[in-house]
Amino acid sequence: MVAVVCRNLTKIYSNGVVANDSINLTVRKGIIFTILGPNGAGKTTLLRQIYTELLPTSGEIEVFSINVVENPMEVRKLIGVVPQAGLPIPELRVEEHIRYFSQLRGVEDVNSAVSYALETMDLEDYRDRLVMELSGGLKQRVLVATAIATKPKLLILDEPTVGMDPITRRRFWRKMEELRGEGRTILLTTHYVDEAETVSDEVAILNKGKIVHKGRPADFKSLLKLKAYVIVKGRNIDPSIFVNYGKIVYFDDYTLKLGLEEIDFDLLKEIRDSILKRGFVFTFKEASLEDAYVQLVGGDLIG
Ligand code: ADP
Repeated sequence: MVAVVCRNLTKIYSNGVVANDSINLTVRKGIIFTILGPNGAGKTTLLRQIYTELLPTSGEIEVFSINVVENPMEVRKLIGVVPQAGLPIPELRVEEHIRYFSQLRGVEDVNSAVSYALETMDLEDYRDRLVMELSGGLKQRVLVATAIATKPKLLILDEPTVGMDPITRRRFWRKMEELRGEGRTILLTTHYVDEAETVSDEVAILNKGKIVHKGRPADFKSLLKLKAYVIVKGRNIDPSIFVNYGKIVYFDDYTLKLGLEEIDFDLLKEIRDSILKRGFVFTFKEASLEDAYVQLVGGDLIG
């Protein structure tokens, strides 16, 4: 089953900015789907239309087969939303915060909703703390807990990991994986390409209002002309030694980065031997989603 479908979705703001330009997107149920893109790409605009806050200029959106423009109230029953830079209400205690919004949203068994949310987001120890006393990462967790208290089939998060330290961020992603394990669909945006690569089932890259690529993170690498890199470290590296092995993509006094069009182990051994023989340090790195992202968004896509 499909969680979200966008068909030729276009959003033009009243100032004439085309924030989403004929977007076609399908998010399968039960996956973590990440939208990546630089600032101003149109990510927030896209999410706001999906979560019924903003009307499309043209095109269609369905959430679990329900048209969001025709039946926004039905859609809202199925989703939980953590908006960009959202802030929980500072004067409430954590438990009160979750309870208040669960009641507003018409949850029948509020007590069990609160318990589920506190437990899922590891907030039981903070239930009586005032939101204003919490760190930024904890406030974000309160927002996510509040959004999931209604047990939404689709959780939409706009840049949820901004401002989280690396440990909090890892814990956050584990929670998202747990929610996926419960059969929920998670649709989010992030700037952190490395995170998107490890955790997402599917990724769409948005640039200037258009989807420039979508697929599984691993699929992106097939787009890249340069599949891997050799990094050479040392003093007085002579780049002419390496020009025949691949493309020199970076060079300074101590570092040379050589891009390779394929991973050929015989060739790699030869390169490594010639590096080590000269007393330099050799490192090998396969191209990552970040490399694909930079090439796609930088307008530098080869292939
Ligand atoms: P992202 O989330 O990828 O940073 P946004 O969806 O926020 O991108 O913005 C996409 C484009 O739409 C940008 O050029 C932005 O300036 C413009 N934009 C966003 N919100 C509005 C608005 N309410 N009115 C006019 N233009 C807007």
